[in-house]
Amino acid sequence: MEKLDIRDLSYEELVDYLKGQGQKPYRAKQIFAWIYKKGAASFNAMTNLSLGLREILKNNFTFSETIVAKKEIASDATIKFLFDLDDYEKVESVLIPTATRTTVCVSTQAGCKFSCQFCASGIGGWTRNLNCAEILEQILYAQRMSQEQPLSHIVFMGTGEPLDNYDHLMKAIRTINAEEGMNIAARRITISTVGLVPKIKKLVQEGIQVELAVSLHGSNNDIRNTLMPVNKRYPLSELIETCKEYIKATNRQVTFEYILIKDLTCTDKAALELSQLLKGMLCKLNLIPYNRVAEFAHKPPSLEEMIAFRDKLIRLGIHATLRSPRGRDVSAACGQLRHYAKIESKIN
Ligand code: SAH
Repeated sequence: MEKLDIRDLSYEELVDYLKGQGQKPYRAKQIFAWIYKKGAASFNAMTNLSLGLREILKNNFTFSETIVAKKEIASDATIKFLFDLDDYEKVESVLIPTATRTTVCVSTQAGCKFSCQFCASGIGGWTRNLNCAEILEQILYAQRMSQEQPLSHIVFMGTGEPLDNYDHLMKAIRTINAEEGMNIAARRITISTVGLVPKIKKLVQEGIQVELAVSLHGSNNDIRNTLMPVNKRYPLSELIETCKEYIKATNRQVTFEYILIKDLTCTDKAALELSQLLKGMLCKLNLIPYNRVAEFAHKPPSLEEMIAFRDKLIRLGIHATLRSPRGRDVSAACGQLRHYAKIESKIN
């Protein structure tokens, strides 16, 4: 059987494994602390484990070395990393430091199946899901790169659809959240989705207090069908109904993300439709200026238009905020992360 990466194991699985090896359960705590609290990148670094135990771990698990093929730093200090995975697939993640928080934006799939007509991530198609270790490694790497200001927030807003890789995502989230793991509060973890209705329903059952962000982007089915083909499968009425169920069951606010495209999504008609759609819901509407992607002809509205649109929504009773884009000069902003073609040799 192919070996698992040590980071593919949940804390409970590691405890069970060690018990099976006749080891004391507290060893699991030590191993998790090495990986998730002290940033160890190999079994050899785990110096308070006996050589014998380190041998057992080496023989039974991998601890894949992280290869970052490219690192780009934007003028606003946002850093984009390009990870070269074991099968030469590539994914990007973004470290976003601000005065009050340090966020890492994480990819969950190599490429994306959903073909949203404004996003770079789907242009090259989808290759595969990332496993739990590959998801966690992006976060661990960001943590190593951000020593002075520890990570405070994790957003699953990189390449891919997190809820389309549900099991690996949830497993990674449990480790991020676990006291023995990274110990980051669930409320500081955001899952962003195109709106996969059955998976949102499943998320309700998890009983974990993560933040849910839903990519709305269209104020009616016609526009949303054009921008997000997934709307044909899960149309607006069904999506909004499911979000209402989510809010009722979890008592938590949902954030809707809404892209501002000139003459298409940022119109008076759209503001009215949005207010009707979201009226009375415990939700926030996060307006995201369209970031340019060469393959699409859209244009962002002017700043004045965007502010006027936000203010109109506020007057209509919607809790709307305007997001300021980060990392644009290195194509690290929302929707600018790409699915790079698999390369056949690693760049060192
Ligand atoms: N698949 C998930 C996770 C990606 S999140 C989802 O769609 O929610 C990335 C966020 O950036 C989403 O809200 C996405 O719709 C938005 N986005 C994509 N392309 C964009 C672009 N060109 N400009 C601004 N935002 C964009």
